[in-house]
Amino acid sequence: MNKVVIVGAGQAAGWAVYTLRAEGYTGEIHVVSNESHVFYERPPLSKQVLSEEASVESLNLFSPAQIDDFSITWHKPDLAEHIDKQNRRVHLKSGKTLAYDKLLIATGSRARLPVATWGAFKRVHTLRDIADCQALSQQLKTAQRIAVIGGGWIGLEIAATARQQGKEVDIFEYGARLCARSVSPEVSAFLKTLHENAGTHIHLNATNIALNEKNDHSITLAQGELNPQNFDCVVVGAGAEMAKELALTADLAVKDGIIVNEYGQSSDPNIYAAGDVAIHPSLGYCIQSWANAQNQAIAAAKSMLGDLTAYQEIPWLWSDQYTCNIQILGTYQPEKTSKVVIRDTSETQKSFFYLDEHNRLINMIAVNEAKWVKLAKRWLGNATVLDPMQIEDVNFNLMKLK
Ligand SMILES: Cc1cc2nc3c(=O)[nH]c(=O)nc-3n(C[C@H](O)[C@H](O)[C@H](O)COP(=O)(O)OP(=O)(O)OC[C@H]3O[C@@H](n4cnc5c(N)ncnc54)[C@H](O)[C@@H]3O)c2cc1C
Repeated sequence: MNKVVIVGAGQAAGWAVYTLRAEGYTGEIHVVSNESHVFYERPPLSKQVLSEEASVESLNLFSPAQIDDFSITWHKPDLAEHIDKQNRRVHLKSGKTLAYDKLLIATGSRARLPVATWGAFKRVHTLRDIADCQALSQQLKTAQRIAVIGGGWIGLEIAATARQQGKEVDIFEYGARLCARSVSPEVSAFLKTLHENAGTHIHLNATNIALNEKNDHSITLAQGELNPQNFDCVVVGAGAEMAKELALTADLAVKDGIIVNEYGQSSDPNIYAAGDVAIHPSLGYCIQSWANAQNQAIAAAKSMLGDLTAYQEIPWLWSDQYTCNIQILGTYQPEKTSKVVIRDTSETQKSFFYLDEHNRLINMIAVNEAKWVKLAKRWLGNATVLDPMQIEDVNFNLMKLK
């Protein structure tokens, strides 16, 4: 193998390049990115960078010297538009054609806009990249009333950041509870209380939202029985669409994302995928998490080099809202859960454990209790049988179960 092409320059792409070089690959690496920035992480875009506590530069995954050492041929900003898998070539919008021995698709996902016409409104924002963050941050400087459409992780983080800047914030969630796809009703209730205690107004079951931007000063939001209200800006955090269109041009097997095996290999043996756009091999669906993008890409890069490394990581992601660091380990599986155990240390410090019928851990959510997450990862990996009474008892030191 002498020529690797990587499409995308986010978390997954960055760690694929790092791994290829760290494992001793000396051939060509071509990276195609439609952004001009290189290899940056996105979590702080809804947190410290949005509030301007951290700089855009702090997002970089690698130093300029490291990037130089990677010896990459860059194609940016450019768009990979078509894959010719028979001849192993990628065609770019600029007209360039890149030959490859192995190709990695690390194109991530993009913010979903439930109503296409909202995209034309100047005061409607989504948050996916640095440019989105800068535009929103700029608008937050003068905005006083903010509507957040979507009560998922990104929507809640943006709401918390805006509220901490003293803005008036309303969250409109389509479903009956917050973060319903990824957490249980108890955790949704905890999140609702957290945000309401901070002074945010939460509107659940908020369907049929209509937005209207009549002038340069405000945007009107009408929903159900509520009288239309004026906001200075609206942020939409209504889920993501996987950027799988490139895979479709090569007729790769796809569902919501690109289907890959545990080595990151797609239905074409020379094409790999990792990160948001790739389906998690054991879960069967895409997960959008920083750790998944990094670790799936590391496994795919090693596999490209012939070191078949199976990616079988237990999903883990985190969110920061107000003073709470929330970590989610495993996935929410109500059909398998037979016991919910809450270790309730204080109002903002608790762990939620979801156990199966044999008292083995399936899923855990830790609020300001990061110390238990490592332990729980071992329990999940080893299918440890737990004693619910011990876990619930805040006077019992869980480290004894190490
Ligand atoms: C605001 C925000 C906050 C987040 N917070 C957290 C968090 O707290 N915890 C957590 O675990 N996860 C968080 N995430 C999720 C995490 O950042 C993503 O899962 C991760 O960035 C995915 O990495 P990726 O490399 O797959 O895709 P990305 O980082 O999205 O990179 C993909 C890149 O490919 C480019 N691209 C797409 N198509 C093409 C093409 N055809 N040609 C060229 N380039 C292309 C895209 O423009 C993009 O630059 C957050 C995400 C966002 C947006």
